[in-house]
Amino acid sequence: MGTAVLDGDVLVVGGGIVGLSTAYAVSRAAPGTRVVVLEKEPGPARHQTGRNSGVIHSGIYYRPGSLKARFAVRGAAEMVTFCAEYGIAHEVTGKLIVATERDELPRLHALVQRGRENGIAVRELGPVQIQEYEPQVRGLAAIHVGTTGIADYRAVAERLAEVSGAEVRYGAEVVQVDRRPGRGVAVRTRAGDVVRARVLVNCAGLHCDEVARLTGDDPGMRIVPFRGEYFELARPELVRGLVYPVPDPAFPFLGVHLTRGVDGGVHVGPNAVPALAREGYGWGVVRPRDLAGTLGWPGSWHLARQHWRYGAGEVLRSASRGAFARAVRRLVPAVDGADLVPAEAGVRAQAVLRDGTLVDDFLIREGPRAVHVLNAPSPAATAALPIGRHIATRALAAL
Ligand SMILES: Cc1cc2nc3c(=O)[nH]c(=O)nc-3n(C[C@H](O)[C@H](O)[C@H](O)COP(=O)(O)OP(=O)(O)OC[C@H]3O[C@@H](n4cnc5c(N)ncnc54)[C@H](O)[C@@H]3O)c2cc1C
Repeated sequence: MGTAVLDGDVLVVGGGIVGLSTAYAVSRAAPGTRVVVLEKEPGPARHQTGRNSGVIHSGIYYRPGSLKARFAVRGAAEMVTFCAEYGIAHEVTGKLIVATERDELPRLHALVQRGRENGIAVRELGPVQIQEYEPQVRGLAAIHVGTTGIADYRAVAERLAEVSGAEVRYGAEVVQVDRRPGRGVAVRTRAGDVVRARVLVNCAGLHCDEVARLTGDDPGMRIVPFRGEYFELARPELVRGLVYPVPDPAFPFLGVHLTRGVDGGVHVGPNAVPALAREGYGWGVVRPRDLAGTLGWPGSWHLARQHWRYGAGEVLRSASRGAFARAVRRLVPAVDGADLVPAEAGVRAQAVLRDGTLVDDFLIREGPRAVHVLNAPSPAATAALPIGRHIATRALAAL
């Protein structure tokens, strides 16, 4: 891929909410900078951004000082403003986090403390007060977080693409990267087009480790895809708003929750089961190359050894609607198997280190003329605007 005129200054790989927010932030921070976004799908937000719970997280869960805590608290407020400004469906609903077992009470209390450290106002509730918010929910204690909301993230991504000032090319899968010292980067798409720029920003979500390796940088992690399956509640009147369990601190996932979306329907999920392909939205989608990648990574085996019991429970709840309903009934006893109508699943891009550590915080690494976003799990949709500015600053510094 020889030299020629540059197509842009900054080339973003991936048209999910993080890549598009980065493009938007580059254009705002440095007007006149030419930005090209390459997205392999025919439109934006076809993967994680368009297949999630649609929650604007308050920031209560995250370790004070982490990127997640910093960006979620700020990002939640900015997301509400962005949606209001562009007429995108959203609502600040508040949510309940409910303890149903005694051993969850210390963890619920720790969440109250953490929320306060992160500057989030929370209200502690007893069983009677829980029912004032949610008549069908049963619990020993709960906390109410007022700043949580819901948003149509697909619409946010579409709008970011429109107002980013970037040239967004769809159907453009990056399959080869050529980086030359002093000369910037040239990428080749599956269709054979060559696109040249001064710096590459890798926001490829489920494929970010592969794209990092295409540049020649060792990402030091691997994406292990975890599918999250959802059901639609046939009787949405059973819940008014958002109801969450107390999360298990061993996992970066929040547990099966009930979420009333912007369309008025109530989603139940997601669980967390190993996906057999990076874009494996059902058990029937198996991609041997992805599977070999997961199995060939030592971290996956460490993970399996540590968490096989939890994993087996999740697989059972995936295979059996009755088992899934039993888990939901802990929060809402009136739900039964017939209330759960299968809905579209999502797959999380979870970075796993060689030693089996599930990377908890956002992870962004740099190589020469490249910025790689290697872990952008929940709440990255909530936090997209400040994350985009953070990545944009690093990309502009690399120009
Ligand atoms: C089940 C589930 C529930 C979630 N719930 C929430 C929630 O309620 N609130 C919240 O804030 N967050 C939530 N999240 C997290 C949130 O969805 C993600 O953090 C966010 O969407 C990440 O955005 P992204 O742009 O990094 O990734 P993606 O949206 O996956 O975008 C990456 C893009 O890169 C493209 N791409 C990949 N490889 C290439 C290539 N070689 N060439 C060109 N393009 C490429 C892909 O097609 C894709 O469009 C959830 C995630 C999941 C999966």
